[in-house]
Amino acid sequence: MAGSSLRSNIANVLVIGTGAAGLRAAIAAHQAGSEVVVVGKRRRDDAHTVLAAGGINAALGTVDPQDSWQQHFGDTLREGYFLADPRVVELLAREAPAAVRELADWGAPFARTSDGRLDQRFFGAHRWRRTCYAGDWTGRAILRTLASKVTELGLTVIDDQYVSQLLVTDGACFGALAFDLETGERTVFLADAVVLAAGGHTRIWRRSSSRRDENTGDGMYLALRAGCRLQDMELVQFHPTGMVAPEEAAGTLVTEAVRGEGGHLKNALGERFMARYDPERMELSARDRVALANYTEITEGRGGPNGGVFLDITHLGKDAILERLPRMYRQFLEYQMLDISQQPMEVAPTAHYSMGGVVVDPDTHVTDVAGLYAAGEVAAGLHGANRLGGNSLAETVVFGRRAGEAAAAWSASRDIQVRSRQVIRAADQELSGFIRHGRQFARPLQRALRDAMWETCGVVRDQPGLRHGLERVAELGELASDVDVRPTSEGYGDLAHALDLRASLTTAEATLLAALARTESRGAHQRRDHPGLSAELRVNFQARLDADGRLSTATHPVPPVPPDLEPWAEPSQDLSAIGRLLE
Ligand SMILES: Cc1cc2nc3c(=O)[nH]c(=O)nc-3n(C[C@H](O)[C@H](O)[C@H](O)COP(=O)(O)OP(=O)(O)OC[C@H]3O[C@@H](n4cnc5c(N)ncnc54)[C@H](O)[C@@H]3O)c2cc1C
Repeated sequence: MAGSSLRSNIANVLVIGTGAAGLRAAIAAHQAGSEVVVVGKRRRDDAHTVLAAGGINAALGTVDPQDSWQQHFGDTLREGYFLADPRVVELLAREAPAAVRELADWGAPFARTSDGRLDQRFFGAHRWRRTCYAGDWTGRAILRTLASKVTELGLTVIDDQYVSQLLVTDGACFGALAFDLETGERTVFLADAVVLAAGGHTRIWRRSSSRRDENTGDGMYLALRAGCRLQDMELVQFHPTGMVAPEEAAGTLVTEAVRGEGGHLKNALGERFMARYDPERMELSARDRVALANYTEITEGRGGPNGGVFLDITHLGKDAILERLPRMYRQFLEYQMLDISQQPMEVAPTAHYSMGGVVVDPDTHVTDVAGLYAAGEVAAGLHGANRLGGNSLAETVVFGRRAGEAAAAWSASRDIQVRSRQVIRAADQELSGFIRHGRQFARPLQRALRDAMWETCGVVRDQPGLRHGLERVAELGELASDVDVRPTSEGYGDLAHALDLRASLTTAEATLLAALARTESRGAHQRRDHPGLSAELRVNFQARLDADGRLSTATHPVPPVPPDLEPWAEPSQDLSAIGRLLE
């Protein structure tokens, strides 16, 4: 189309991402009558969603009949410190039960009660047991189910495609440019509508529950470049329990299901220290509180030999552990030769989930750019300042479906679509510009960025640290302009790393800017120099790229709670208590 080396591929709806959100969007768009193509930068059966462990939320009331979608709404809004969009939360809570039943009907092997209903376990800060699960491999079970459905419906899925740019002209998205990670072959994917389901940015911290080459902020970067706003980037969930050793496994998640199944947190003195931080809910407190409690115990010198605290599930017994936490049992055997039915695990906080992301309309998940939709972890709006465990998988299927349907409707409503050769040519040239000899390599710069983010923008932050973080990002940005990128016998990995680095640097900067602006402690955002909650800062921070390519940040009011749901959204406890923990 724009050059002889470019192939083209045409569909009504292009889905970027083969995680749960992307696959659910693709199924919905297909069922709504669209021709769909799905692309992902790694194998479809290995998208990040496979890591999800403990479960997916839906107010089914199987084991606690008192539960209701309204209670799920209230728990989510309250524990998010009232920064979430109430309409997004309402849709999630209302629609998750049907979405989970649908997965079960499609064959997801969720645990059942003895009378055959979907079993539910406790997750932290939920009023009732509402988390459905498949052992501790729920994400893999869901992804396999969706992938089988995609195959059954005959949808086109193309792996190993790295999207470098969304194509936008006249304020509307008409596709994306991608290259094949093995051959380098470039394809212009032309589509009436695009669903971006490319995940979050938590791999930019040294300790992270994500693996290499995922969650590098690509989706957020692509959207920002296309003209979208990003929101709540400073609100990053640090999961309280990541592995601390060996070094190559540090950050790997120890699922919340361990605490859900009755695990106790103890410090080196053997104290169940959650009694000091949240005596009512103890280990089943919200993630932000448990993460801060673990952090405090460790930094005040009550940690273990590897700089963690202890998570003890030995009292559950080996049979129950193998039945309910099989992956955790094997994970510790494999990495540490530790039998968790005999000895406690040593754990510490790890960067886990991007609660911020692309600004979307609550109902359709359309972004600021016509024809461009975003769903799953890449999107903002649901979690506020603290995500409840199990809500993310629910989000992928509820809003993946909504985005897919809306994208198909947009496609069906269009007679004519404008596509710009100039935009395609410019995207192609920009990609070619990355392939050059240089004095730097992307991997060490990625590592340096991860170190900088961990040290300056971790569980607890302050102004001097955040400013220093911005300086480091600027220095690394300079070095990144001299990165060596060339094809090797293994393909175009260098190019992918250079682009990952570009996305990570920009999302890091957006995160640091918003973290500086939020001069309070709220949920997962803890400021040593601003320990209290500020009523005026019950706002969202939004970032956009100015015409000169610089990031700017502005505040945006949180939409009001609908009057009929207000009784469910009453703060049930003193939310400022979390700030006081730092004082
Ligand atoms: C260890 C772990 C355990 C978790 N456990 C739970 C749990 O029990 N319950 C729960 O609710 N949540 C859990 N989560 C969170 C949840 O797994 C994720 O938020 C969710 O799976 C995100 O799904 P997604 O479809 O939005 O994105 P992902 O699954 O991250 O998929 C992103 C897709 O985008 C593709 N992509 C990215 N960039 C590009 C690009 N430039 N070009 C092309 N393709 C691209 C990727 O290849 C991938 O296919 C857990 C997370 C982790 C890390």
